Amino acid sequence: MSVMAPKLAPGTGIPRCLSCSSPLSHTFVDLGLQPLANSYLPPERVRDPEPRFPLHARVCDNCMLVQVDPVQPPEDIFADYAYFSSYSESWLRHCSDYADAMTERFGLGSQSRIVEIASNDGYLLQYFVGKGMRVLGIEPAANVAQVAIERGIPTEIAFFGTETARRLAHAGWSADLLAAKNVLAHVPDINDFVAGIRLMLKPEGVFTVEFPHLLNLIQQVQFDTIYHEHFTYLSLIALAPIFERHGLMVFDVEKQPTHGGSLRLFVARPEAGRTTSQRVQDVLDAERAAKLDQPGGYDGFEEKVQAIRRDLRAFLASAKSEGRRVIAYGAAAKGNTLLNYCGVTVQDIDFVVDRNPEKQDRLLPGSHIPVQAVEALIAARPDYVFILPWNLRAEIISQLPEVARWGGQFVTAIPQVQIHSGAH
Ligand SMILES: [Zn+2]
Repeated sequence: MSVMAPKLAPGTGIPRCLSCSSPLSHTFVDLGLQPLANSYLPPERVRDPEPRFPLHARVCDNCMLVQVDPVQPPEDIFADYAYFSSYSESWLRHCSDYADAMTERFGLGSQSRIVEIASNDGYLLQYFVGKGMRVLGIEPAANVAQVAIERGIPTEIAFFGTETARRLAHAGWSADLLAAKNVLAHVPDINDFVAGIRLMLKPEGVFTVEFPHLLNLIQQVQFDTIYHEHFTYLSLIALAPIFERHGLMVFDVEKQPTHGGSLRLFVARPEAGRTTSQRVQDVLDAERAAKLDQPGGYDGFEEKVQAIRRDLRAFLASAKSEGRRVIAYGAAAKGNTLLNYCGVTVQDIDFVVDRNPEKQDRLLPGSHIPVQAVEALIAARPDYVFILPWNLRAEIISQLPEVARWGGQFVTAIPQVQIHSGAH
């Protein structure tokens, strides 16, 4: 694996902002040295040295963009990406609703061209194909793109930026609707990405982008969503100037329940003459009320994160001393940041279960907790089921009615350590 040298301000050794290039000296939260969150290990490699990198989130005092030092180039993260979006039912429903809403709002029809950046296995574009529209996916992971192509979703294997945008626009792929769901945080050169958006849009075209809202990350102490593969943590205050810099404007915003509270921005060229919705001002007002427009608004987060670590360790220690067994559910990337920051190991949790067969029989990075199939949890009948993907808590509890029957309880650690009965 290769490692990226962080962009440093000349002569200072201080990293620079991915948006405005100002030196970054203001810590948001320092999560210490951590392995890459998606580096699941085969058991035979448990004794091999495991690379760890600083996981240090900083806020830019000039433009308020929260970001981590980029240590891994996207080529490494996405070359053979194991995650297929189509695995989650609630996410597919979210995508189908999106296709219906955009078609109605923007009057899309059989002449329309729909392009998605980071289109994965075609999980979203399939709904536009179903409406008879012309679609193109752009996906950097060749193995995932191949699945989309076999399903009849034309897919370009490429990273998105000005170079790809220029090439596809010349090939006639200027978009009426350009979509990006949960990809912006993975982009190391956000300026080149946004400049590419303008190049890719028809003059009247609309770009929609979704991302977890930094306001929720801060208020709900969602520090486990911070990992090396997420370079940026986004607010409208930090993003609006990036769009303006590249000849685009945010004309509407919707709140989405996905990933613990997301925003969907609607972006167009100013000359398209779209009216700006009051909702844009409302989100900016909410961010300013939380002081996200000033460096001091980002202070105090690290103390809340330390409190979660203290409480989780106390819970696991007392469960152990009482002879109660804890098994974890969901081998998601966010679980790894939590477990490794809190120093949780197989001494505390015997194993974690996950529905994704790609992850089973591997070890979690850092903590080395083994991943097993969900049946192993049912057989073990633990006293506590520790849900790592807390955003799916209700869905997971309803899928495991057995737990309440044997007297087990559920535990989550975000925004604080909480025990839930399985009875609802
Ligand atoms: Zn900045």
